[in-house]
Formats: sequence, C-alpha cells, structure tokens
Amino acid sequence: MTAPKKLFIKTYGCQMNVYDSERMAEALGGKGYVETKTADDADMILLNTCHIREKAAEKVYSELGRLKPLKDLKPDLKIGVAGCVAQAEGAEIMRRQPAVDLVVGPQSYHRLPAMEERLRQGQTALDTDFPEEDKFEHLQSRPKAKRAPAAFLTVQEGCDKFCAFCVVPYTRGAEVSRPAMRILQEARDLVERGVREVTLLGQNVNAYHGHDGGLAGLIRALAKVDGLERIRYTTSHPNDMDDDLIAAHGDVPELMPYLHLPVQSGSDRILKRMNRSHTAESYLRLLERIRAARPDIILSGDFIVGFPEETDADFEATMDLVREVKYGYAYSFKYSARPGTPAAERALVDPKVADDRLQQLQALISSHQYEIQRSMVGRDVSVLVERAGRQSGQMLGKSEYLHSVHIEDCTAGIGDIVNVRIVEAKTNSLTARQQ
Ligand code: SF4
Repeated sequence: MTAPKKLFIKTYGCQMNVYDSERMAEALGGKGYVETKTADDADMILLNTCHIREKAAEKVYSELGRLKPLKDLKPDLKIGVAGCVAQAEGAEIMRRQPAVDLVVGPQSYHRLPAMEERLRQGQTALDTDFPEEDKFEHLQSRPKAKRAPAAFLTVQEGCDKFCAFCVVPYTRGAEVSRPAMRILQEARDLVERGVREVTLLGQNVNAYHGHDGGLAGLIRALAKVDGLERIRYTTSHPNDMDDDLIAAHGDVPELMPYLHLPVQSGSDRILKRMNRSHTAESYLRLLERIRAARPDIILSGDFIVGFPEETDADFEATMDLVREVKYGYAYSFKYSARPGTPAAERALVDPKVADDRLQQLQALISSHQYEIQRSMVGRDVSVLVERAGRQSGQMLGKSEYLHSVHIEDCTAGIGDIVNVRIVEAKTNSLTARQQ
C-alpha cells in the first residue's frame, strides 16, 4: 500500500478561487493526493492565484522564489501555478521560474489528473485553454466526507461586461452558466455532507441563464432542496438585477437579507469612463426597489478611488452616494492599472491624493458599518453555528445579515441554526445570547 502523496494548495483572491481550490484538491485526490496544511511536507504545491490587484503576478514570482529552495532539498517535489495569473501569464511563468512544473488556467483544471500523469513521466504541463467541454462535466462527483455547514457553489463563470479596469473577462473568459440540474444535484450532495447554507458564485452571478427563470428561478428551485436553509449569491452587476430577482428577495425566505452589489464610483463621469453602463441615479433607484422588497436587507458594495482623471468633485459624488446608501459592508481599493485592460494606459491620479481619498472613504464606510452593527443590539436574529469559540460555551457563526456572531453559553452545535438576541456590538462582530 503506497503512502498517499501530499498536496499543499495556497489560495489567493476571491471566493471562486476558494471553490476552485476545493475542486482541484478533489481532482488530484483521485490521483492519490491528500491535502496537507504545510508546504514543507508536500509532494505537490499548487498556488491558486488572483490577478485583480497591482503586482499580483510579481507576488506570485516572489512566492515561487521562496518555494524553490524546497525543491532543491526535495527534487521530486512538483510546483504548480493555477488561477488567473496562470491564465494571464501562461508559459512565461515557466520561463521566468524553471522550478515550476505545471501551469493551469481556471477553465481547464479538470484536466489536472492527466497533467499530473505527464509530470510523473518527467514532463512539464501547461494548459490555459478555454476548452469547449464544460469542466464541471469532467470533474468527478464530490466526495462524501462531512464538511462545514456553509459552502460556496459556482453557478456561473466569466464576464461580458468589460469594465475598463478589470482583467476578469480576459482571465476567466465569456459568461458561462452551469445547467440548473447539475447545480441542484451538487446542492443536494452538499446538504448530505452537512451543508445548510450555500453561496452561489459567479463573476457576474446575476447574469446566470442556466435556468429558464434566470438566477431567481435557480434560487426558487434551490429553496425546495430539503435541508438547504440558507441561500446567498455574489458577485452581481446592477444591470442584471431583474424584477424576478428583486421579488425573490421579498418572497423566498431561504434567500438571506444581504446583497453585495458593487458600484465602484458615485460619479456618472467616472462610471462612464469605467464602462459600467449605469449611472449613480439608476443604481440608487435600483436599491430603493430592492429595499422595498426586503426592508431589512443589508447592502454591501465595492469602490475604486483614484480611477484615472477622477477629480475632487467625482470623489465627493462617491462620498455622497455612500452617505445615501449606508452600507453594512463595503470593500474599497485604490485604482491599480491591470495589464491589457482599456484603462491601463491612462494617466494616473497622484498616489498621495488617491491614498487620502481611500482613507476618507474607508472612515465613512466604517462609521456606517459600526452604526448598523450597533442598531442590531436588542434585536433577535438567527445564526448558523459554524465553529466553537475560544471561550468555553462560546460558539461562532453568521447571522442572516452575514454578521459574525459570538454566542455565549451556547447549547447548539455546528450546523444548527439558532435564534439569539444581540446583546453587544463590537467593531467587526456581535455578541449574543441564545433565546
Ligand atoms: S462586471 Fe465585475 S467581473 Fe465583470 S468586468 Fe466588471 S468588474 Fe470585472
């Protein structure tokens, strides 16, 4: 009986990379690999990379530089690069770092078992195709092992929006929706393994069209899966929030009252230059309709400051929009030019000005976030228990609003959904007592 080989996967970036890393580990599991938590005792190391921010590729090269000595010590060690930097850089990775044996893009990781076979024969393996075949059809069914009660589930990939700052349409390709039947089957498999909540993933998830009813149709079908109590989805584009999806927020109890809806800027001039195809006004009217359907919904957003030619007035328009919306969460970044994107060659805003704007924006967002956290004190919410806390009797989980909640003297177990009363608000979490 040969000892199982050890696989170490390091995941960068978005939830979809987290999901892809799980599927890549399962694909190599079929070749006798088991996951290990440390690179030191691995037989294969896989970096699942993200290309969204500046210097993303350079970070991967410096990480590979740190791993190379491991290979000098253990010549049979295999090193691979997956994800969006693999897709963007391809063979260049092996040219710059000869210690790399394998490069695989996000659309072709279902071919990992065959690629691993080539490594065994002493070859290297490179695959950054956008294959005809649907990778999910070729991925083996998910293993039966028990797992955490909340899971990611990719339903759509790629994006046709071509925002001027974004690499996703180039690294993940055109929008592809998985057939609803496959997603329902995967959801049933996940529930069998202890999952109570799924987050449906897509680079432009609300453009999903693998069900006649679109994403709303898929959500209504998933809500009928026995044992699946909670549904979330991310990441959406304002232009694909249709009436059915808004209505689903009002009448599907399993659909959680939390919505991540990026806007990037509050200035119509900048939104136009970003090729976002909507205005600040249309975005705000859309949020009004969503809040009418689900008044207690918590909203989350994405913002870029310092986009080329952003003036003080443009930035102030962003601050005004944030003041009007009051986000429960929002992610904000300084613009970073991404190679190959339409905005990459445009003149940059003074970095000091961009830094200052980011600080102002983040201070405003944090003040709203904490205000909303404080407004939860005294309210009853339901929490999906995900793990034990540090103190005895304490359990941790997420409320329906995606707030992190510490439940004191909790008698519930992992996977239970319990009603609690919020007794205290901290900066990034809430404290509660079981009802
Ligand atoms: S919609 Fe999102 S993923 Fe698509 S191009 Fe724009 S920012 Fe990128």
